[in-house]
Amino acid sequence: MSVDYKDLFEQCGLDEAWQAENKERIEKFLDRIEIRTEADMAHVMDHFSQQYDTSLKGVRMMLAVCMKETIDWVLAGDEREVIIQYSRPTMGILSQGMHVAERRLNEEAGYTKYFSRGTSILMSEVVLGTIFDKTNELIEIGEDMGQTAGRGHCSEYQVWEGGLVRGFFPKPTIEVSCGFFCDQAPEAEALLADEFDYPIIFTDMPQDHQWGTWPRIEPHGTAFLTKTSDDVYDILRSQYDYPISEDDLTDGAIEANLLVAKHMAIANLIASADPQPVSQADMALSFWIYVLGTVYTEEASAAMKQFQKDVRARIRAGQGVVPKGAPRIYLSMRPVTDFHVYKLLEEVGIAVPLAWFDAFPPEVTNFETEFPDRPFCQNCEIIYRFPGMGDLKGSSLYAYKWVCETYNMEGIMLVMLIVCRPYELPISIGRDYMAKECLDLPCLVIEMDAFDSRNYTPAQWRTRFESFAEVLRLNQAMKED
Ligand code: SF4
Repeated sequence: MSVDYKDLFEQCGLDEAWQAENKERIEKFLDRIEIRTEADMAHVMDHFSQQYDTSLKGVRMMLAVCMKETIDWVLAGDEREVIIQYSRPTMGILSQGMHVAERRLNEEAGYTKYFSRGTSILMSEVVLGTIFDKTNELIEIGEDMGQTAGRGHCSEYQVWEGGLVRGFFPKPTIEVSCGFFCDQAPEAEALLADEFDYPIIFTDMPQDHQWGTWPRIEPHGTAFLTKTSDDVYDILRSQYDYPISEDDLTDGAIEANLLVAKHMAIANLIASADPQPVSQADMALSFWIYVLGTVYTEEASAAMKQFQKDVRARIRAGQGVVPKGAPRIYLSMRPVTDFHVYKLLEEVGIAVPLAWFDAFPPEVTNFETEFPDRPFCQNCEIIYRFPGMGDLKGSSLYAYKWVCETYNMEGIMLVMLIVCRPYELPISIGRDYMAKECLDLPCLVIEMDAFDSRNYTPAQWRTRFESFAEVLRLNQAMKED
């Protein structure tokens, strides 16, 4: 291995001691994801430096968590006997119990026997995209394999297929999929399971609430998600030697909620500051850790705590990534593999104090539970109440309005994810809704693909962002008059 990776790993919070201890693994990982020459590494360093502010200690610590998760996943085929990939739901409040069980069972076994995570796909896409710039080439392979361009295939699963073909990702022993808010994911996963010959089992949740029922979610929906999850755990116990316990699920629910609380505290801090103290590109790390959960809970908690300190220090120093008084907007979605959009918004002087799922209406968590004795089920209820989950359109739209009003936003940017059915639908009616519900709130709709950065150009966006910034500043000036 001729690549010098020390600086990159150091900036990703993985110090010399960790590097020395994991030398063989690091080299295998880099070889597996095809970072093999100094030219490859030079490209990585250039790309990576445009995404994060690694002068912040909390950012480096959060990057360490994401890197460890990704290295574990890429090497799982070499290092683990049982690989359970919980690709859906990819929400820590449901899958953190799997992470707790993995830690406990590996400790009891005395070696890393199990890999069982809900982090594999998305966490590795954040890392392979924003750090290593590898996701677009995996998408091209996914297209060549039959998930053709222009046919609305979800790029998240084009990456997954490309990664399997190229050997970046291991073939799971068993895949756990879920259609809890998206039907494209389980369809693509079933196809890939067949193509690459591994078994797949499903949890599920009905997606079709009547318009206007949210937040009064029908209990049968939660019961269905709970039942299908319990069935999956039974299969894992009986057929895959994976004795996940009720205590694991309870501890997982508690750990996941801790990560949620930590993220929300940071989001509130940023939302109350002027100027915006840190980039949403850096905040995105906290976001993905809280949304996905992690096996490295203690490190993640410490990293988020440090990031919160970093944010406070910036606020005390009056430092910001945009000028003080910059117009504030809410961004309805977060990209996964490329964070240039945040930087571009900052460059044109637009503050983004909050983005997707950084804040949600009180109805999501303030409710009388149907399951007072089972924290795992309470998290199933929360999932159902999350805006954009159980009731895609109505709750998403209401949440946009709630965030804008509660946090004094001066505009909203609605992101139309062009290959994503669940997140394209609310946006198609969002502009009209916002015009009716939040009079005079400027709204810009942009088209984006959260995984495929070939589909947009910064130049196109820059012009639109500059015009939007102009409108927002004119509004500010009129209000001052
Ligand atoms: S990006 Fe959209 S379509 Fe793809 S898996 Fe996620 S929610 Fe489903």
